Amino acid sequence: MTDPEEIRKEIPSYAFIALARRGMEKISLDQCFLKNCNNENPDLLEPFKKEEYEDEKRQTKEIYIKCKVCNGVFILKLVTLKRVAKSTKEESEDPLAMGMVYALDEKKKNLGHIGYF
Ligand SMILES: [Zn+2]
Repeated sequence: MTDPEEIRKEIPSYAFIALARRGMEKISLDQCFLKNCNNENPDLLEPFKKEEYEDEKRQTKEIYIKCKVCNGVFILKLVTLKRVAKSTKEESEDPLAMGMVYALDEKKKNLGHIGYF
């Protein structure tokens, strides 16, 4: 049994969307990304499973979330690229990493790139 609250901690609170000419917009990831559902209440979103894998270039986490409003399941896929750019400053500094968030449906069909975290 996985504790939903433990999984919830793995989900960034916000993602950032690049807007043409208008900078970045911050959106909450506490929402249901399934079609025709506008649930934005974190109490009605239950993370229940997490899968993690990584290769040389990226680390991927897939978090399965059940929506208690539409009774659907969707997956937040969090991809962190390793060493996107080498830091030109001190060596002790962490390598720069960038994360991307995607939403997938239960069958892992891509619902779209949400943004960056
Ligand atoms: Zn929903």
